[in-house]
Amino acid sequence: MEILKIAIQKSGRLSEKSLELIQECDIKITEGKRRLIGISNDYPLELLYLRDDDIPQYVADGVADIGIVGENEVMEKDKNVVLVKRLGFAKCRLSLAIPQDVDYPGLQWFNGKKIATSYPNILKKFLKEKGIQVTIEEISGSVEIAPSIGLAECIFDIVSSGSTLVSNRLKEVDVVTQSEAVIIASPKLSPAKQKLLDGLLFRIKTVQQSIGNKYILLNAPNDRLEDIFNILPGMKSPTVLPLHLTGWSSVHSVVNEKDFWGIIDKLKECGAEGILVIPIEKMIL
Ligand code: ATP
Ligand code: MG
Repeated sequence: MEILKIAIQKSGRLSEKSLELIQECDIKITEGKRRLIGISNDYPLELLYLRDDDIPQYVADGVADIGIVGENEVMEKDKNVVLVKRLGFAKCRLSLAIPQDVDYPGLQWFNGKKIATSYPNILKKFLKEKGIQVTIEEISGSVEIAPSIGLAECIFDIVSSGSTLVSNRLKEVDVVTQSEAVIIASPKLSPAKQKLLDGLLFRIKTVQQSIGNKYILLNAPNDRLEDIFNILPGMKSPTVLPLHLTGWSSVHSVVNEKDFWGIIDKLKECGAEGILVIPIEKMIL
């Protein structure tokens, strides 16, 4: 039987969320992390724990069939892989940053400067398009300290909240690209592996659809039901069950967290009582 091999980061910012995603798909992983390979008894899936930098290459070479990695690494390595799904976590941006006390007139400021980065290819491509010439100092980590130790005048690096920049007396002056965790796949998957990938993607979609949604149950007098239906978004139409008490019904529906409190207030105004809110594990639409 075919097994789908998935590369995930061994240890770092993507590791926990990647494993969590797989586990939320009801795929339990049995072997420990140190063994470099994890297997599952629930799904024909094998996990390869790797450095994130290596994941695009392993997938392009077909050593792994698919991988979970930051879009930034996919862009930087520019390997022959297919981006099959954006995952919505590890969101960050790749930005140019300069010392806080320097006036910034625009991108031309970078002409002739020395820039420290772990992403030389993305940077080169961007600056070439803008017609700006620089010297790139490639380093593999702690890029943000480069200006203070005199290695470079400015940096091109991952930014999320910006607090690392501030604590290193730097300011973000240009966002070059956005990034999030993605699933990449080898461009030449066998039909059997493609089917396993499709099955996995279906499970992921099911998990993601449930995010932020709550199942809501309430009791309401029958003469207010129409008002209540107008408030509840629901998946198709709310479920209504008669209560033993004459003239009352129980209404069930699905509500998203973002509209949640507004909807609860309106429901109460319409006479809803005994409102229960229950988490949803999976949603299949
Ligand atoms: P490895 O040892 O596997 O090479 P690493 O040190 O290169 O790991 P991490 O710092 O673990 O990488 O980051 C992994 C990925 O997480 C990055 O490539 C990026 O996509 C994302 N990421 C990094 N920093 C942040 C951040 N501050 N906020 C959100 N996402 C981030
Ligand atoms: Mg790395």
